[in-house]
Amino acid sequence: MKFGGTSLADAEKIRTAARRAVRTQKQGHQVVMIVSAMGKTTDALEALANQVMRDKPAPKREWDQLMSTGEQVTISLMAMALEEMGSSAISFTAGQIGMVTDDRHTKARIKHIAAERIHEQLDAGRIAIVAGFQGVTETGHVTTLGRGGSNVTLVAIAAALKADLCENYTDVDGVFTADPRIVPTGRKINFISYDEMLELASLGVNVLHNRAVEFAKKYNVPIHVRNSAHNRKGTMIVAATESMEKIVVSGAALKEKLARVSLTKVPNHPGVVARIFHTIAGHDIMVDDIIQTVNDDKTASLSFTVELAEFSDAKVVCGKIVKNLKCDVHYDDSLSKVSVVGVGMRVHTGVAEKMFRALADSKINIENITTSEIKISCMIDRAEGKKALRVVHDAFELGGKKKKPARKRAKKTARKKK
Ligand code: ASP
Ligand code: MG
Repeated sequence: MKFGGTSLADAEKIRTAARRAVRTQKQGHQVVMIVSAMGKTTDALEALANQVMRDKPAPKREWDQLMSTGEQVTISLMAMALEEMGSSAISFTAGQIGMVTDDRHTKARIKHIAAERIHEQLDAGRIAIVAGFQGVTETGHVTTLGRGGSNVTLVAIAAALKADLCENYTDVDGVFTADPRIVPTGRKINFISYDEMLELASLGVNVLHNRAVEFAKKYNVPIHVRNSAHNRKGTMIVAATESMEKIVVSGAALKEKLARVSLTKVPNHPGVVARIFHTIAGHDIMVDDIIQTVNDDKTASLSFTVELAEFSDAKVVCGKIVKNLKCDVHYDDSLSKVSVVGVGMRVHTGVAEKMFRALADSKINIENITTSEIKISCMIDRAEGKKALRVVHDAFELGGKKKKPARKRAKKTARKKK
């Protein structure tokens, strides 16, 4: 069971999480808890480091040493809460549990987990509590797995222990057909495949760290994403099944802050594009979609998108490229991307047509189109982004008649309470 920062924000919430673990153990399960830092602790630590460093980059080893302290607070508090409730519990840092990573500080990768040490504790009837997000190198230096990395810890431990289930307790009810803050009819999805979740995560759906989902897929660990504030079922992330393919589109997503760089009159011969992207990658700029077309005059047009936050860096780098290649460049920093995702696309036709039609009927112009086997994305003007998401969500009838049962259920429990 993993609990995120918002589910551990204060003493009472820590006790609530502890109670849940006790209940699960009483049902006959062995329980390992992975915990994040309390509330916004990690943000606060980052801010502190930036102040001390006067916004210069911090030495990465020390950065990790600092960031890992947030989780260290929570593990011991959780163990105390459990002991107070009469349970037997023991907390572990990454070093104590043999959660060995490589030495890439701030984005380390897990190499090995000493699962036997956790098994020993479980077999002794204890609840084991492990600090999320942190690791340790072979030589004993503390590392971290990247922000949001506790989810990676969760899945890695579940895989190492061959757990039956991993539960991810958070402050949302699960994965939605679309962000309910933008699309009020957005509905919780009961089952979603790893692949769909990976696509959605790369499209800005911030439920789980992408690496956590990749890990879960690789080791076939089912993840239950659910709300720590109540007992209702959330979303199960599992391997794709045949019945999932009957559903053409599972969800829609909007990535709002994107910018595009378009290079035209690019010489079209071997090695040019490789050189361009070598330069871009050399400046650590993350490129989203890339589109290239070849013109009649033997030149190529090349466009790619980047996150708005990386746009100013991208412009500087592209300035150099343009000078070198003597091509033209255009920039657009007011774009968003609306996408639909579904494993059912592998076997159904007409999905693209339906999406384009829906946007056209709402007079939303499509700037770029990119696709994968299970995804179609359209770049549009940012001003139309939210509307586009609603329109597409409606076109595929993803919205719930769900609203009513939810209200009924609320009434029923209210009555019960009375
Ligand atoms: N505490 C870390 C963070 O806020 C890790 C996590 O919560 O997953 O990024
Ligand atoms: Mg956190």
